[in-house]
Formats: sequence, structure tokens, C-alpha cells
Amino acid sequence: MALIDGYDRLHDNLRISVTDRCNIRCFYCMPEGPIPFLDREEILSFEEIERVARVAVSLGVRKLRLTGGEPLVRKDLPVLVERLCGILGVEDIGLTTNGVLLEGQAEALWNAGLRRLNFHLDTLDRARFEQITRRDDFGRVMAGLEKALALGFRVKINAVAVKNLCEPDVVPLARFGRERGVEIRYIEFMPLDAQGIWDKDKVLLQDQMMEVLRREIGELIAIPDQDPRAPATEYRFADGIGAVGFISSVSKPFCLNCNRLRLTSDGKLRYCLFAIEELDVKGLLRGGGSDEDVSDVIRETVRRKWIGHEIHSARFVAPPRPMYSIGG
Ligand code: SAM
Ligand code: SF4
Repeated sequence: MALIDGYDRLHDNLRISVTDRCNIRCFYCMPEGPIPFLDREEILSFEEIERVARVAVSLGVRKLRLTGGEPLVRKDLPVLVERLCGILGVEDIGLTTNGVLLEGQAEALWNAGLRRLNFHLDTLDRARFEQITRRDDFGRVMAGLEKALALGFRVKINAVAVKNLCEPDVVPLARFGRERGVEIRYIEFMPLDAQGIWDKDKVLLQDQMMEVLRREIGELIAIPDQDPRAPATEYRFADGIGAVGFISSVSKPFCLNCNRLRLTSDGKLRYCLFAIEELDVKGLLRGGGSDEDVSDVIRETVRRKWIGHEIHSARFVAPPRPMYSIGG
């Protein structure tokens, strides 16, 4: 039976975090100082990840996305990609990356079967890149992006939108996207940072970005939803050159269309980025649990899914795990 929750939402999308580690330190995700990363043995092996994915696919999951932390710091990632591509029933596999290590790994990932990359890039300005990521890796990121485009990957760029910081990047990113045939997706800053700095007033909102794009570049025309369950609302420029998308979890939550489940690198299943509870699957995998037991945990996760996050409510509590440790 398909994975349908109490609000009639069908779940066919599993996001898999392969590590909580990262090689940069975006301030809206990771803390700057020492981070209590998971020990190696706490992280699911490729075999364990593949097994959960297989069971999820047998229950109707069709889309997989690898994320982290930074997935490319996980050794031999192309091996996992190849294994996941081999699961009968998987229709789509994507990878979300900061791109720092991509130049050296892009070819192996392509050969393993990967075709879609969500590339995280907030700015084309090297100094601001360093300010945001606390690392001077802008050159490596751009080299990775060029390599991915040259190989023929379908690329989208994710740019986190933080107020009083990212305003100067909105238009240059869109222009870059128009020139290179890459959709820029602006992501409103969400309360998932490790240091508790999020505040409603620090979110650069979709409407504000659209206004400046219309003024500086040109009219935006809504693209009819090809997949109403995809989180981004997409627009094309009226002159026919390029498109942008907005993932507006704060100003326009899309919870009612959510089709996602998440597997953390330490083997917890989650029904929402903002969920407070999560169910353990690693114990089953390592304790002799059957595939039926794994199915049960997946089903139970879906059964427990709430109607949506409550960022705007006084009841809202940020999850105890920040973005890098959940898998964005
Ligand atoms: N390291 C990879 C990367 O940066 O793309 C994959 C993991 S990262 C947690 C996944 C995505 O989360 C990033 O593309 C970034 O855009 C987004 N992200 C991280 N922290 C965020 C926050 N506080 N609010 C909104 N988006 C955030
Ligand atoms: Fe690393 Fe991605 Fe988090 Fe930035 S957003 S610190 S690249 S995991």
C-alpha cells in the first residue's frame, strides 16, 4: 500500500543524508566552533542506506536525493549512487552539494548514473561567499559548477536568502542563471541554524525578491506547476530567457503538498525538516530486523506526520537538530 498520511498526502520522495560533516561553515546552518560530529560507526553504511531505500521504493518511493552535511565529503559516494540507481522503481536521483569538491568527483558521479545536481551558491561575490561560509572556497565552487555544466548535468542553484545580507546577490544570481541556462532557486532563511540566530526579521522574503527582480530584470510569469508537490514556485522571465524559483517555507509554506520523508545519516526517519520527533531505523538494521520491520517504521513515520510546521505560531519550537545534522 502506498505511503499516504492522515492528510491524504502521498509520499514518494526520500531524502537521504549521508553525513553530518561539511567542509564549509555556512552561518545559517553550522556553528563556527567545534562541532560534535557523529562517529563513523554511528553513520549508516552504504549497505544500510541501500536497504532502507529499497524498502522505501517497495512502498512507493520514486525519488531519492542525497544530501548532508556535504555529501561529497563521504568517501566513495559514487559507489552509493550506482547502487541506488540500480534499485528497480527509482525514477529520479538527485544530489545537493556545496560544490567545493565537485570538480574532482563530477565525472565519477556522472559515470555512476547521476544526472541532477542542486548546487548551493548564495553569491557570486568572493568576499561575501567567505563571509557566509567562513571559508575561502569560492574558486573551487565555481570550478565545480563549470565542470558539472560541461558534463551535461541538469543543474539548479540553491541560494539561501537572508535579509540585510543577500539583497545584493538576488539580481546578479538571476542574471548569471539567465546567461548559463540554470534556474536559481531562492530559499527563504529557515529556523534551522545551529546557533539560534534565526528571526522572522532576518528572512528575505519571496515577495521582496520578486519585486527587485521585476524592477531590475523584467516581468516574471508564473510557470504552471508541473509537479504541485515540488516545493519551489517557479517563474519565467517574460522575455523568455531563464527562470527562477522560490522555496518560501516562511512566507508561503507548502506543507499541504509535502511528499517527503527524510533519513538522517545516523539512521533516523523524519517526516519533516522541522519535526521534533523521529523514529529509529538503525537499531532495526543492526539488530536483525526484517524488511517488514523496516517497512513498519517507514509507515509509522508517515502515519505520524503532522499537518505542517508552525513557524508563525507562538507554539513553534525549532527542532533540536540543525540543518546539517538533519540533511537539508
Ligand atoms: N551541503 C549541501 C549544500 O549546502 O547544498 C547539502 C546540505 S545543505 C544542509 C542543503 C541545503 O540547505 C543547502 O542547499 C542550503 O541552501 C539549505 N540551507 C541550509 N541551512 C538553511 C537555512 N537555515 N535556511 C534555509 N536553507 C538552508
Ligand atoms: Fe555545509 Fe550545506 Fe550546511 Fe553550508 S548549508 S554548512 S554547505 S551542510
